[in-house]
Amino acid sequence: MTDHLYYHDSFLYDFDAEVTEIPASDRPSVILDRTAFYPTSGGQIHDTGVISAEKGSHKVTEVAETEDGRVVHYLEAPPKDLRPGSQIHGQIDRGRRRDHMQQHSGQHVLSAAFVRLFQMPTVSFHMGDDYCSIDLDTPSLGKTQIEEAERFSNEIILENRPLEIRFVTRDEAGRLGLRKLPPAERDQLRIVDIEDFDLSACGGTHVRQTGQIGCILVRRSEKVRQGYRVEFVAGQRAVRTARRDFTALTDAATLFSAHIYDVPLQIQKALDEIRSLRKQREDSLDELAAAESAKILAETQETGGRKLIIKIFSGRDINSLKLLAQKLTRQAANTVALVATTSPQPSLVFAQSAGQASDMGATMKQVVAKFGGRGGGSKDMAQGGLPTAANVEPALALGNEIVAAAKSGT
Ligand SMILES: [Zn+2]
Repeated sequence: MTDHLYYHDSFLYDFDAEVTEIPASDRPSVILDRTAFYPTSGGQIHDTGVISAEKGSHKVTEVAETEDGRVVHYLEAPPKDLRPGSQIHGQIDRGRRRDHMQQHSGQHVLSAAFVRLFQMPTVSFHMGDDYCSIDLDTPSLGKTQIEEAERFSNEIILENRPLEIRFVTRDEAGRLGLRKLPPAERDQLRIVDIEDFDLSACGGTHVRQTGQIGCILVRRSEKVRQGYRVEFVAGQRAVRTARRDFTALTDAATLFSAHIYDVPLQIQKALDEIRSLRKQREDSLDELAAAESAKILAETQETGGRKLIIKIFSGRDINSLKLLAQKLTRQAANTVALVATTSPQPSLVFAQSAGQASDMGATMKQVVAKFGGRGGGSKDMAQGGLPTAANVEPALALGNEIVAAAKSGT
């Protein structure tokens, strides 16, 4: 079992140790007799850093703990200069360790605040590279409760309470009334004690005084299966996050030439305007299609008791084509409209007034099948797409043939 130096001093960034094992594995790694490198555990992510010996140094990219308590340091490259017995010097990435201490101690404070204020216990803790989260066992969680827990946590931080690490027996721990007792059958428990505020069993690295957490900023919360997940950031992460938020908000405000606090109002106004313009546009297009349809119908002679309209457009989308076909077949009875557009997408729309002999859906299927397109529809209205604009004219001609044959009953 590796001697876990980080259990006794979270601020130990440099240490000397001896190599005990170079595990035979595809992934280069080394095991030491003692280490200050924290392995991923208890919700906290691992340290990184450097292990150096006489002949060179090795980057530690990940640290994990085996079930029997050995800490495995994964290295960027095979440690060819190391063997059991080699003396090494380990250096932890200080910035990363400090950040992890701020997040983890911050978590203890925030979790205790939720218990003290609302009796909401934390059931799990997750630390990511960007943000951290706790899962609260509660059927409901309100916005004001989150704000109160955040404010209370920051008060505890401002009071700069001492945070002590102690080792106690399991019996003693039972008498102390810990916020959370680990399920493991260990006789010695490591206790994180925030003076007169929180006691919990934990193996993580922590600050010495709550003031070192800096601050806690709660972010979003969401309902999860067993309760609520609350995202938060502490210390420098909180400042970085707030800075990023501010930049995004400022960019948005600049687009609206507004103050940042007016951005939601400006967005609401813009959305309302978009909605109203969209409605106006639809109405205008409808009126335009009605006028165009009336003009076409007036210019079209009736032959054999019906009006047959065959037209090819360009620069017209299929929706506008459908709208026109709809108007043509509704404004006059006994009308058949075979209309198409060559661009932006070569498309066809076949439509007829109700009660005609043809089946537009079947006709469309037959036509697009011949020209390698896709389409279909109902008896009175069908649409289709063609692979090239050159197919549009012959496709309409074929549609016309089929419709004519249906009318004459051949
Ligand atoms: Zn902890």
